Amino acid sequence: MSRQTIYYFDNNATTRAAPEVVDAMLPFLRDHYGNPSSIYKFGSQTAYEIKMARAKVAALLNAEPEEIVFTSCGTESNNAALHSALATQPGKRHILTTAVEHSAINNHCAFLKKQGCEVTFLPVDAGGALDLNMLDKSIRPDTALVSVMWANNETGVVFPIAEIAAICHSKKTLFHTDATQAPGKLEMDVKALDADLLTLSAHKLHGPKGIGSLYVKRRTKFQPYLLGGHQEHGRRAGTENVASIVAFGRAAELALDRFDLENTRVRALRDRMEDAILAGIPNTVRNGAREPRLPNTSNIAFDYVEAEAILLLLDQIGVCASSGSACTTGSLEPSHVLTAMGVSPARARGCIRFSLGIYNTEGEVDYLLKHLPRIIKKLREISPAGAKKGA
Ligand code: PLP
Repeated sequence: MSRQTIYYFDNNATTRAAPEVVDAMLPFLRDHYGNPSSIYKFGSQTAYEIKMARAKVAALLNAEPEEIVFTSCGTESNNAALHSALATQPGKRHILTTAVEHSAINNHCAFLKKQGCEVTFLPVDAGGALDLNMLDKSIRPDTALVSVMWANNETGVVFPIAEIAAICHSKKTLFHTDATQAPGKLEMDVKALDADLLTLSAHKLHGPKGIGSLYVKRRTKFQPYLLGGHQEHGRRAGTENVASIVAFGRAAELALDRFDLENTRVRALRDRMEDAILAGIPNTVRNGAREPRLPNTSNIAFDYVEAEAILLLLDQIGVCASSGSACTTGSLEPSHVLTAMGVSPARARGCIRFSLGIYNTEGEVDYLLKHLPRIIKKLREISPAGAKKGA
């Protein structure tokens, strides 16, 4: 592994596990390795720790502990929500979602289409916003689930989830939100929100990778995605990932504590970085409306350059950022999110997402702002489009 100093601006891809989280987790890898389903105390004591962690994740959402089902990741939670909505309503074969969801919804919907379901992908406008009238009109008697993400992982654009939930419930339709990017950054209260199903993933909130949860509102019919043992009150089979569940609980506590930090210091850092890039580097634009937006995310188009080239040069100086979602990096297709917002393919190929976090410092932003203009200038000089435009 490289020992270069890392300037990490990719917190929407994943976050560094907080030291407090690692401390909470390690004893369950090293010492308390019993199976929570065991009858003896060495195992069953870990069941108590799972119970505590469940209460902490529930508190993050103002949910009841029994409404939280631990899963292996956000992807599984999203897949499980779609699966359950269809399995518990066999007469309903339509899914309503948006054109800008994460691939964990998009690709599952593409699979469902092949299986004979109908899927409507709602468009967004240039700022990334949904037309709620259109959403309302698109709900059909056979709509099994409306699934709309809370905050977009590529642009940070936030959808009015409470209004969407109200529209769905006025039509007695189930509502799921992929809230993977929201914790610690947006106020989350499922009682006020009234979602039926809600996805979280610990590694986006300074927890470990490979652990997520699905909130299932009390009395919502639920069909498990994984069948087997009776873990998770019969809603998700498989021996519990005790260490990661405990760590998720600790990360949820910290996310609540650090809500103000994300919304003051991180927001100010993001704004300073974004304003300086837009003012200091010609031919740059922000993708997505300025507000409502996650406080940490900035997606910027650098015209006449390829994002991959920018990322490679940033990597050489230790800066981590990304072009779109980590799950689609490496694909040559322009981002489906930016395409849905009407960004031209040429512009979409030059877009970089910077996503900050609580561990970023003013000095790190200064470092980025010192090097980025030089990198963009250099790439434009050698790019045919940039040279032609004199960019
Ligand atoms: N949903 C959104 C909005 C995401 O940003 C991600 C991760 O990038 C996921 C779902 C998938 O989460 P996981 O990596 O835990 O499967």
